[in-house]
Amino acid sequence: MAKSIQAIRGMHDVLPQQSPLWQFLESRVAAVLASYGYREIRMPVLEMTELFKRSIGEVTDIVEKEMYTFDDRNGDSLTLRPEGTAGCVRAAMEHGLLHNQTQRLWYQGPMFRHERPQKGRYRQFQQIGVETFGMPGPDIDAELILITARIWQALGIPGLQLQLNTLGTPSERAAYRDELVAYFEAHAEVLDEDSQRRLRSNPLRILDSKNPAMREMLDAAPVLTSHLGDESRSHLTFICNALDLAGVAYVINPRLVRGLDYYARTVFEWVTDRLGAQGTVCAGGRYDGLVEQLGGRPVPAVGFAMGLERLIALLEEVNPGAATTASDLYLVLVGDAAAREGLVLAEQLRDAMPQLEIVCNCGGGSLKAQFKRADRSGARFALVLGDSEIEAGTVALKPLRSDDSQVVVARESVIGILKERIAG
Ligand code: ATP
Ligand code: MG
Repeated sequence: MAKSIQAIRGMHDVLPQQSPLWQFLESRVAAVLASYGYREIRMPVLEMTELFKRSIGEVTDIVEKEMYTFDDRNGDSLTLRPEGTAGCVRAAMEHGLLHNQTQRLWYQGPMFRHERPQKGRYRQFQQIGVETFGMPGPDIDAELILITARIWQALGIPGLQLQLNTLGTPSERAAYRDELVAYFEAHAEVLDEDSQRRLRSNPLRILDSKNPAMREMLDAAPVLTSHLGDESRSHLTFICNALDLAGVAYVINPRLVRGLDYYARTVFEWVTDRLGAQGTVCAGGRYDGLVEQLGGRPVPAVGFAMGLERLIALLEEVNPGAATTASDLYLVLVGDAAAREGLVLAEQLRDAMPQLEIVCNCGGGSLKAQFKRADRSGARFALVLGDSEIEAGTVALKPLRSDDSQVVVARESVIGILKERIAG
């Protein structure tokens, strides 16, 4: 036999047993976003490589070493999207969604990064992302954070910590950058290779390093706070006040950074200590400079993205009963006539009770074998139809999850009984 082929490292199947939890997650998040008037946008998973180089920036982990990039048959360099913001901005620009208007958009789908796979870090992973355009004030930043807080509530995830910071404006950051470079130069012996390289190109990004050997030095690094101007300060204060009034707790973390030039002011992350090193489940920020960087007129923008695998892992821990795979009713159909009539009976039951999950036994089998399948389906009840029931115009209803005894009822009254026992 030929050797079987396996999935690509770091890319995972969502098995039928797990998909109800995914559906729970995705539908709850979609419902919250809809309740704030956000509209879904769907972009291709492939984009021109240039888009990511120009948006994410050449001197970032993503562009330097994590992208799945290849030449297609025409010789165009294409990249599997490592994140959704760039494609969303590209689409919004291309279709004129940014001209003299505001937009509240969201998207969902797989992202691809060639990272070292570990718990909470994969090469294909799912994000739900939100991007807003055309709103320069802190009100929309606060709205985004309130949305995320409501999402955790809707999912039944307690105990996430909100970290908040401001990166100021690009010119405020320039002054900070000089101070930071001087500090790093004074500690050059602790800098790892990546950081040495970034010292000139993107020193802020060094603060984002996950190298434990640099932890202590990074913890003592200067912070941006003293370089902030009045407007940046009041932007952050507005958000803090709004969160205080809404009862959403946060901590200001002056070390929370994004090393990208187009970021402005607000950055935030939601973190958990339940997932080990990969504790950030949602990250967002304001990126007023990006549209211009991609060749458009400047448009203020702010958004966030959450990692769904990390949220699923969290849900499995804190809210495992959120979704189930159990059917309601399994039709045990013994014999040809019952197999045929059972399919029709099931149709009538679904017409009457569309909310029920009703599974017909297909493929025959003895009474015993069918009951085994019924049990495995997780169904609460089995409905038995065989030659004798057909002759008598009855069905037998047998509870599978309790010791209650089986009842035999006339075919006409089965809907009434089921409504009473299951659907009611
Ligand atoms: P990290 O610091 O964990 O590498 P990041 O800053 O690269 O995250 P973002 O680009 O801000 O992450 O993406 C937003 C969210 O997407 C993250 O907070 C995380 O929940 C999720 N995410 C990012 N990369 C991965 C990955 N490789 N596997 C699974 N989830 C991921
Ligand atoms: Mg990363």
